[in-house]
Amino acid sequence: MACEAEPRPLGVFECQLCALTAPYSYVGQRPPDAQSIVLLEESYVMKDPFTPGESRFLVLGSRCSLCGRLVCVGPECSLFYSRRFCLPCARENADAFPQEIQQDLQKRKIASKKPASQHGSRT
Ligand SMILES: [Zn+2]
Ligand SMILES: [Zn+2]
Repeated sequence: MACEAEPRPLGVFECQLCALTAPYSYVGQRPPDAQSIVLLEESYVMKDPFTPGESRFLVLGSRCSLCGRLVCVGPECSLFYSRRFCLPCARENADAFPQEIQQDLQKRKIASKKPASQHGSRT
């Protein structure tokens, strides 16, 4: 089946922690180009722009199962432990996770939108 139609982006995914943005073309657990793959969670997915012709896709992120905010899958933004948790929620509820995960959490830095500290440079 030669179908040239590119999947139209449904919208733009924006991580609410690190402000990563990317157009996504699918939301759900079964990306249309990867028939045999079922994701563990409802995810925002885009076709992998770097591997044309292949049934590749990238998972951009999904919603935190606690607070509902959209977070990317980056280690500084979210954690997947049977469900997706944004890092702030994961930290707040660290007691609920196994020790292994708690230790992992402590190692991570939470993403922040603040620009790197600037010293007042003059021109
Ligand atoms: Zn992020
Ligand atoms: Zn959350």
